[in-house]
Amino acid sequence: MIRHDVLKFNALNAKHRKTYRDKHEALGLCVSCPNPALPGTKYCGLCTSKSRQRSRKRYQKHKESVNERSQLRRQGYRSSGRCIICSRHLDSDMDAGNVVCTYCIVRPRGVG
Ligand SMILES: [Zn+2]
Ligand SMILES: [Zn+2]
Repeated sequence: MIRHDVLKFNALNAKHRKTYRDKHEALGLCVSCPNPALPGTKYCGLCTSKSRQRSRKRYQKHKESVNERSQLRRQGYRSSGRCIICSRHLDSDMDAGNVVCTYCIVRPRGVG
């Protein structure tokens, strides 16, 4: 009996949430706060900028971690005497002091 009531209550709640969104959407209001929504969107300027900031932060974090990883890889290649682009072992005569092999220097970027 109690379980049934809880289920009913949850269903009502979900329905209420949906109506709230629908009503706001129909009225041209932000679906997550009572502010008017920006034209063509479901969110007001505040909520849009908030979500944009969140996604930008996430993106930046992702970029940083990728950068860190590629930097580590490059450092690894460099310290083991390998080309940081193709990981080919550098020639001690031809490629002395380089971090990129002769092949990668000669080869145009993006070709091959
Ligand atoms: Zn809003
Ligand atoms: Zn190379």
